[in-house]
Amino acid sequence: MSVLAYIGIGANLGDARATIEAALARLGQLPQTQLSAQSSLFRTAPIDASGDDFINAVARVETGLSAPALLEQLQSLEEMAGRERPYPNAPRTLDLDLLLYGEQKINTATLTVPHPRMTARAFVLIPLLQIDPFISIPGKGAAHQFAPAVAGQAIQKI
Ligand code: ADP
Ligand code: MG
Repeated sequence: MSVLAYIGIGANLGDARATIEAALARLGQLPQTQLSAQSSLFRTAPIDASGDDFINAVARVETGLSAPALLEQLQSLEEMAGRERPYPNAPRTLDLDLLLYGEQKINTATLTVPHPRMTARAFVLIPLLQIDPFISIPGKGAAHQFAPAVAGQAIQKI
């Protein structure tokens, strides 16, 4: 049985664009997983974070992995990209967040899905809506209804 999952991708250290392109390719190579859609790349100003502008994108995968197994794979891709966590919200070579996992709501110590901040961030919402304009967020409804509230956040398609 496979599930559609959406992954938010961000980088603002090193060659962010190359890192994101590589991450997109690697997502499609995870076990039991196919990349089924990818957004454009977007340039965004840091929010709650420091350093250079971010490059962001959203990927949709079809996966047979459980949500915790998928998160573990995302974290190992972050490690491969040289991710370090010197302090919260530090600049990052690669951040992979599990935004949506099917219709599921998950609340464990290590995983919250839907990702709690996804409706407040243009760098997630805009690429997500580019892939699936009618996507709905479990417990929150249509994603597009949150777009006006993030319209003030600078985001530029590359
Ligand atoms: P952030 O992305 O919030 O800046 P990190 O990437 O360092 O921070 O993630 C911190 C922790 O967030 C991870 O160790 C992970 O267990 C937890 N986490 C909870 N929910 C999610 C999710 N939906 N996607 C990714 N990580 C999550
Ligand atoms: Mg993260």
